Amino acid sequence: MVVVQPTPFCNIDCSYCYLPSRHDKRVIAQETVATLFEKLFASGWARPEVTVVWHAGEPMVLPVAFYDQAFAAIEAMRPAHVRIKHAFQTNGTLITPAWCDFVKKWDVGLGVSVDGPRAIHDANRKTRSGKGTFDRVMAGLKLLREHGVRFHVISVLGRQSLADPRGMLDFYLDQGVDHVCFNVEESEGDHVSDLFAAGDLRARFQDFLGAFWHLARASGKIHFLREIDTMIPRIFRPSEIDMRNPQVEPLAMLNVDCLGNVSSFSPELLGYQSQEYGNFLLGNVNTDTFRQIRDAAYGSALYRDISTGVAACRQSCDYFSICGGGAPVNKLSENGSFATTRTAYCTLTQIVATDLILDSFDRLERSWTEGAPTPPPAAAQRGAAAAV
Ligand code: SF4
Repeated sequence: MVVVQPTPFCNIDCSYCYLPSRHDKRVIAQETVATLFEKLFASGWARPEVTVVWHAGEPMVLPVAFYDQAFAAIEAMRPAHVRIKHAFQTNGTLITPAWCDFVKKWDVGLGVSVDGPRAIHDANRKTRSGKGTFDRVMAGLKLLREHGVRFHVISVLGRQSLADPRGMLDFYLDQGVDHVCFNVEESEGDHVSDLFAAGDLRARFQDFLGAFWHLARASGKIHFLREIDTMIPRIFRPSEIDMRNPQVEPLAMLNVDCLGNVSSFSPELLGYQSQEYGNFLLGNVNTDTFRQIRDAAYGSALYRDISTGVAACRQSCDYFSICGGGAPVNKLSENGSFATTRTAYCTLTQIVATDLILDSFDRLERSWTEGAPTPPPAAAQRGAAAAV
């Protein structure tokens, strides 16, 4: 995966935002984009499909023409055996008919950040003058629906939404949203979440996710719930398939800022500073070869400490075969070191969903043993995965 920062700038100012440079209006040069993909394709390291996420700032503050030019240049140099899937994560306040046409033309995967009904959304997602952005985002969703643009929603959950799974579902159904992803408000960068400090976060999230999952399935109208639907194939997979975690592999995630600087591992590290690791940068696409950047990644204290943390996870954590060692940025922000294991983020992204799915599987198994004849193990697993 490649994460490209077209600009650090964001036109709004959410209270939980972790991006340190969201007031910075610099824009990545078209030449830097071209050099990045020229070197990526020449390296031979691009997999059959490369996902390119335009993020780490609000992508839609740049004009459609900027991306038309960049995407066309990438397409012109793309080797025949490599597929490119572009993706945008947007705050949804700048969507216009021209953006709808662009998303359809390039088949861009589109994620819109919407936190829920007005009171919940406007509590955090505000303009620089402190006004809520709900109306602008709803106008954006309406345009997407009218133009037949497929999108998913990412909602940051706080205290209020965690307490109201039914209200959240009703909101999505009202807005024609059928692909849903959740992030729980977390501590990252300068932002400290009081939810993370509370002792009952796991119980709150488990109650929320369990209830939302079953209500959503019962509605028949939510076709994708990331927290469950991406976890099921990871849990019920053949044992010989290893779990890959791109956040702990050098350059499996290539994160490039608007100046061409490269970091890897967790994308949020782009723009971070620390006494121990400096600015987390491994090179620059304009001045360094991919081999130099890769060597810098493998030789870094960053990789050494991330690997120590992964080894400790492998030794100590029952969820390792599903998780693969977690998110380095969360280990650093929550525990103060990459060379550690459990975080609240583990609970929210791995443990709660795994436990809910396995609990459902156990209940299904019990119903098979108590009622209908038990299917053989492999079929039982496929059946459970399909049923949950
Ligand atoms: S869930 Fe947490 S402790 Fe367990 S493997 Fe993942 S990162 Fe490590």
